[in-house]
Amino acid sequence: MQPKIKIRYSIFLKLIILILVFIVLVNVSIGIVLSLIFGKGHFGGPERFPKAVRQYVINNIGNPPDTSKAQKLSDELDLKIRIESDGLIWTNDRSIPTIEKLGPERDFRNDEDDFIVRIKGRPLFINKSGNSYIIFSPPLPRDLINETNVVVAVIIIITILTVLLYFSLRLIFGPVKKLAEGVENISRGDFESNIEVNRKDELGNLAVSINEMKTSISNMIKSKESLLIDVSHELRSPLTRIKLANEFIADEKIQTKIRDDVREMELMITEILESYRFDKGYESVSREKTDLIKVIERVISKSAPAKIIFEPELKEAIISGDKRKIETALFNIADNAVKYSDGKPVNIRVYKDPSGKENIFVSVKDEGMGIDESELTKIFEPFYRVDKSRDKKINGYGLGLSLVKKILDEHYASIEVKSKTGSGTEFIISFPDILPIILPGK
Ligand code: ADP
Repeated sequence: MQPKIKIRYSIFLKLIILILVFIVLVNVSIGIVLSLIFGKGHFGGPERFPKAVRQYVINNIGNPPDTSKAQKLSDELDLKIRIESDGLIWTNDRSIPTIEKLGPERDFRNDEDDFIVRIKGRPLFINKSGNSYIIFSPPLPRDLINETNVVVAVIIIITILTVLLYFSLRLIFGPVKKLAEGVENISRGDFESNIEVNRKDELGNLAVSINEMKTSISNMIKSKESLLIDVSHELRSPLTRIKLANEFIADEKIQTKIRDDVREMELMITEILESYRFDKGYESVSREKTDLIKVIERVISKSAPAKIIFEPELKEAIISGDKRKIETALFNIADNAVKYSDGKPVNIRVYKDPSGKENIFVSVKDEGMGIDESELTKIFEPFYRVDKSRDKKINGYGLGLSLVKKILDEHYASIEVKSKTGSGTEFIISFPDILPIILPGK
């Protein structure tokens, strides 16, 4: 058993750190941007616009204020000016708030006559002389920085940080994909490959646990399988003895009954051993010229000649494959058709691909109880029987069709089932053109 790894870098710790770093980075970056934009001094605070200069502006505009001089000054110094005097309101920039609006910022009307108000970081110099107010704003050294640019800057920062966060999360949760693939492989029955996650966190630990679980499931299956095989194998000798002993029983009725039971058991043992051999690939597949018509005739003679209708449409239907295995596969299908159709006739057909390709088709059709649509994919699984109560009276262990599937896979042949409950079932096998020699029909 693989030792569990010690968690050194917890995933939750990593996540918490990542989220904290993200929050700090967002705040710091936005803070830096905002301070760059609205920071003191950048719009030219009082330190850049000393009192003497301000006084010069006020004196130049004069009292009562002269708007033409104000215009000239604003042109020269790039100032934004607003004048409010008795009956006179003048401005060269509508964004400067009125005295009325500035009121709430500071009750400057009763205060000093020269002071500064800051609106969104932008300094406004206000001078009061009698009933006249002159409000002006120094030139903006960064005219490009307006509210839209701030929003754009913040969006860019958040986008960059979000992309970084996304890639960091992908790095942390990268192994989840590998884990999902690994679990899917296990569910498909692949017990060979391990999930490789070389991490010292919870995901690494999970990968180790899944690998361990897979190994123990695989061992369990193997031991059950070998038990089944051993028991089946061992049963053969006592069965032979029973068969022998049966011959000495005087009562013919009992003798027949025992013979039937022994035959049934032998069939089951053969099916189990056969399917095991196929699984392990112990048996090689021979590629011999096989006439499907002859094979089907043998199958019918072994199964139920009276109930199967077979009128060959082709003179020969030759494929390249393993005669004995193909016979086993076709026998299982034909035998099922007879078993599950309550004495009604079964039809077997062999025909060429209607689309003109070289494939050869074998159809086994019955008018029996049929199979529910939801069961159609499951019937090829080992030991699967559609309805335990329905099939109880009919002999079988659910191994026949799984064996059929294995044999057909080996021959690159496909099988299709069409069925309707109560109306019957049709199995259609398509043998590929491995060695197609089909002579014209009779
Ligand atoms: P079994 O030994 O039980 O016949 P199979 O693997 O051959 O096992 O078939 C699996 C199940 O599929 C059967 O138990 C039966 O319920 C169903 N089945 C197979 N062939 C037919 C058929 N021709 N008509 C109805 N049901 C069928």
